[in-house]
Amino acid sequence: MRRAQYGELVNQYLELRDDHPGVIILFRVGSFYEVWFEDAELVARELGLKLTERPSGGSAPPVSQCGFAHHALDTFLPRLLSRGYRVAVCEESEEEPTGPAGSGGTGGGIRQRDVVRTLTPGTVTDPRLLREDRPTYLVAIAPLDDRLGLAWTDVAAGEFKAAELDSDEAAAELQRLEPAEVIVSVDRPVPEELIARRPVTPVGPSENAASQLQRAFPEADLSGLPAAEIAAGLIVGYLEETQGAEVPVLDAPSLATPDEVMRLDAVTQRHLELVETERTRERAGSLLGTLDRTVTPMGRRMLRSWLLRPLVNPRTITVRQQIVAELVADAGLRAGLADRLAAVADLERLAGRASARRASLDDLRALGEAASALPELARITEGCASPFLRALGRPRPALAEFAERAGAALTPTGGGTRGGASRSGGTGGQAGQEERPFRASASPDLAEALTRLDRARAWQGSYVERLRRQPGLSRVKLEQNSTQGLFLEVPVNTRVPTDWIRRGGLQKVERYSTPALDEHAQELAEAEAEVAAEARVLLTELRGAAAEAAGAARDLARHLAAADALLSLAVVAAERGWVQPTVDTGDAIEIAGGRHPVVEALGPFQPNDARLAARGERDQLVILTGPNMAGKSTWMRQVALIVLLAQAGSFVPATSARIGLADGIFTRIGAVDDLAGGRSTFMIEMEETASVLRAASDRSLIVLDEIGRGTSTHDGMAIAWAVAEYLATGPVRPRAVVATHYHELAALAEVHPQVTLLRATVEERPEGVTFPHRVEAGAADRSFGIEVARLAGLPAALLERARQVADAVEPLSAEVGRRLGRATRPGS
Ligand code: ADP
Ligand code: MG
Repeated sequence: MRRAQYGELVNQYLELRDDHPGVIILFRVGSFYEVWFEDAELVARELGLKLTERPSGGSAPPVSQCGFAHHALDTFLPRLLSRGYRVAVCEESEEEPTGPAGSGGTGGGIRQRDVVRTLTPGTVTDPRLLREDRPTYLVAIAPLDDRLGLAWTDVAAGEFKAAELDSDEAAAELQRLEPAEVIVSVDRPVPEELIARRPVTPVGPSENAASQLQRAFPEADLSGLPAAEIAAGLIVGYLEETQGAEVPVLDAPSLATPDEVMRLDAVTQRHLELVETERTRERAGSLLGTLDRTVTPMGRRMLRSWLLRPLVNPRTITVRQQIVAELVADAGLRAGLADRLAAVADLERLAGRASARRASLDDLRALGEAASALPELARITEGCASPFLRALGRPRPALAEFAERAGAALTPTGGGTRGGASRSGGTGGQAGQEERPFRASASPDLAEALTRLDRARAWQGSYVERLRRQPGLSRVKLEQNSTQGLFLEVPVNTRVPTDWIRRGGLQKVERYSTPALDEHAQELAEAEAEVAAEARVLLTELRGAAAEAAGAARDLARHLAAADALLSLAVVAAERGWVQPTVDTGDAIEIAGGRHPVVEALGPFQPNDARLAARGERDQLVILTGPNMAGKSTWMRQVALIVLLAQAGSFVPATSARIGLADGIFTRIGAVDDLAGGRSTFMIEMEETASVLRAASDRSLIVLDEIGRGTSTHDGMAIAWAVAEYLATGPVRPRAVVATHYHELAALAEVHPQVTLLRATVEERPEGVTFPHRVEAGAADRSFGIEVARLAGLPAALLERARQVADAVEPLSAEVGRRLGRATRPGS
């Protein structure tokens, strides 16, 4: 047997490892966490630790090891989790070892060790392990027949949702959620493209998933959606398996209905740079980056989710708009609200920890204080027109009751070291590191224990004083260290009373204990233990009370987070002169003086109008031409972003705007590189175009930027032509903008009145071309590529030669335009 070759300690490690497949075991040995065997190599590499060897404890050769001191857990754990690893923290039991002497141990038996908690990237709730500005999602995917069940939870906030989707919808949802961890059942393989480059955790078979869900959430109603049910059940099972006794309390899973939000497929979310920039994936420079003036992390997360999920119901959009409008109109209200909200901070995650009974002492205090913010909120908002704003400060009895209890039990701030949030690897249940977190009045037992402790400490002081009054002992001191406990210290060669017992010394001092001191030390230790035990009891009780108030806290948190997100929209609107758009169910999009919300913040901006009409006689499809750098891409994105902002409930950067609701926005840009994905750029372009044509309805907004760029000129132009024609005359006629440098496409407008020509203008001056970024009626007649090349500094001789070639081909191109005009099928 292989195991027989190792000592007992190594065998213990191997057993734990086998019980937790796919999980890195952090094995507590004394004051270190150690990792052995192959995992040691991996962890040493990931964390930059030194890889060493330790004796196997038996006849086997030494085993690889790396490790770190136990107090460094908070540093190293997040790094492992953020790289997608799952980690089991394994602690030594407190009991003295009883087993036979293990050759791997320190002599004598070895301590038993157990996994106290498994941490996975999608299930952590410790605030130090989570990003503040976005939710951390655990997602389960369960295919069933031709449907995909998707369930997701943000454990820290209690959100739990499920849906049944097709694969495009699932890809869009995954892009929004950006899961920290995806669980997939071994018996339900998931299409590779959905999980490629995502941190996947395989879990056991799914046959009991639905019943597991039923058991945990009898009230959950996902009936008729078996795939969603299985996915939600996988989440329940996984949390039970990894979280042990501390399973956080989640909302009952609710159905996420895709038709309540605007459809934004994965590519569109990236192209529009809603929450991060496309290339560097940074928040700064994204729409969220420019709009985020929130004052709480929960508000920040709410705003992020709103931008990824614009609404399609005019009534709910109007509700948000009216609140923003009220806030825009009242700077005093904005300032007052910002102050109050900032003080409440991240109540949402606090409520999550409270529900899991993991609240730290600071958490408990903060939860109590949240209730005390309400009267002030009520005062600030009492004159508001919006019922939402007026309700922010309404009394919350469950919270008030908790606040009273916490206020009576807890001292105002931590005495001594402040206990942070719950310890990541810890088992919970400790009274934190504060010396006196609870008031003496919190319980008669605590009062008694504290009296005893105070009495012992007082004795200590008077004892030393009494000693110092004795001849020759004026320099006696009472000291304490962790190995010797309490002792008296005097300079060497001091004559001490005969009943003092020498305990050693240093170069200049001698140390002694006395019978009275020993007796006192005993008394002190007992009193301290009593105080600690009583504090643990009180902490458990208060955590129980906090768990009961957690539901109310969570509800309040969601209201306040929404208020913060609305406030942020109002602050931006007020500062940048944005207007309230009219959002209706009409067919038209009419924007006057529109600006790009991100670009306008960077410098002077040329406003432009836009008009599009669904199923319209005209303006259904805009063909936008113009040279490179003239502002085409900016204009079309700005139209898309203004529609999106309007439907998220925001004001928009324009002098006026009327938005006929869009059920979805689809954008594509020609010839993007996806080298990592291993597909040719043109293939991607065509796949993406195909999925837009599949998904769009008459009510969608389509923005195609230079399609047909990734292939030869003729092919590319032919495809661009056919796509534009299909959008204008095909079975579905969405509002669409097609930007192209194939100015030949202008011929389409001669035949189809629903096609409108716009061009981004260029000004030719003797010193070269400039781009005023004005968009006006008409079509560009040539592409100015050579002028742009000149601006970019290509050699003069090269430019001269390019001009000659261009002169030779231009007549051909004009002829192509004429022929295409004739070839175009009239009608429709
Ligand atoms: P195109 O797609 O026609 O090549 P872009 O939209 O990429 O042009 O714009 C080129 C540059 O001009 C961008 O850097 C952008 O910031 C700037 N720009 C575009 N439109 C405007 C505008 N309306 N006002 C000010 N700057 C603009
Ligand atoms: Mg462009």
